[in-house]
Amino acid sequence: MKFLDLVEQYREIQPEIDGAVLGVLGSGQYVLGPEVEGLEREAAEYFGVPRAVGVASGTDALILSLRALGVGPGDEVITTPFTFVATAEAIRSVGATPVFVDIDPGTFNIDPRLITAAVGPGTKAIIPVHLFGLPAPIDEICRIARDNGLFVIEDCAQAAGATTGSKKVGSFGDAATLSFFPTKNLGCYGDGGMILTGGEEVWERVRVLRAHGAREKYQSSISGYNSRLDALQAAVLRVKLPHLDRYNEKRRQVASWYDENLPAGCLPAVPDGVAHVYHLYTIRCPSRDAVQDALREEGIPFGVYYPVPLHLQEAFRDLGVGEGSLPESERASREVLSLPFYPEISRDDVLRVASVVTDALK
Ligand SMILES: *Cc1c(COP(=O)(O)O)cnc(C)c1O
Repeated sequence: MKFLDLVEQYREIQPEIDGAVLGVLGSGQYVLGPEVEGLEREAAEYFGVPRAVGVASGTDALILSLRALGVGPGDEVITTPFTFVATAEAIRSVGATPVFVDIDPGTFNIDPRLITAAVGPGTKAIIPVHLFGLPAPIDEICRIARDNGLFVIEDCAQAAGATTGSKKVGSFGDAATLSFFPTKNLGCYGDGGMILTGGEEVWERVRVLRAHGAREKYQSSISGYNSRLDALQAAVLRVKLPHLDRYNEKRRQVASWYDENLPAGCLPAVPDGVAHVYHLYTIRCPSRDAVQDALREEGIPFGVYYPVPLHLQEAFRDLGVGEGSLPESERASREVLSLPFYPEISRDDVLRVASVVTDALK
């Protein structure tokens, strides 16, 4: 059994992918160009936003969004400590300071009730993460941001296609970021990322920043980055985007198999009004060691996302946020367990994993 299998999905759409890749190879246009522009148009339409900009990774999408919104040295950005390190790393790399706010233990997402107390004179923005594919309470977060004059950048790396009400995540904030890393719900075959935005100014700025700050070739107006999306990845993504809703539907089906066969107390929560896209299927087990031992014994792979919350990692120790400061994130790190999960996994595999976990939890 595998934790994740990317090849099965490739095999299913291989003729389309291979055709798209060969088309790029014969085109002579390998970085940016018509494939990237086509993807930007199609993604903007899919996510329900006016504009999209392809960049080199999800991490760069965060960095460029922060830069485009004018966030820099001396500014504070509120985010969750229970996420992949890139979220907070991006804040640091523009010279700003992450301010970690604890999570809601029911959803693993940032707890909006704790955000207002963390707002100070230096706060410029909030980066909520739609973790594991579950939308964060984005309406409430946007209201708090409006009341306090803050920007919102949605980190949608794990949640492509998830919805709140009738709208896709990524269409709520001043900017939103996607990662196309191969394991993400919408993945390419290398690195890639995207910024979604309604703001014409943000759009203009990220387009300049991704190509060395140059409005015209060899005329740099600000120092930017080399963060262009390449045409091969864009062509792959143009093939995959029309399948994304179907992949996410399969993910929900697999999740329902787990839900029906695991004890109720450990299941991932899904608040009313949102569609979860299950980037990962993550349960909570206070006796995690016993469950891990049982899975190991049966040769079943698993993952722990994330074993150490960001405020306790060495890279962020200088912030001085010690152990005990963010208790729900710390408890989640001790209790979460992600089970084998991908759209093509078989029901038999899911039932086998569920039975081992259920027995271990008894
Ligand atoms: C994957 C991920 C990123 C970074 O994306 P890359 O494309 O790997 O740079 C950022 N935030 C979250 C929550 C992620 O899961």
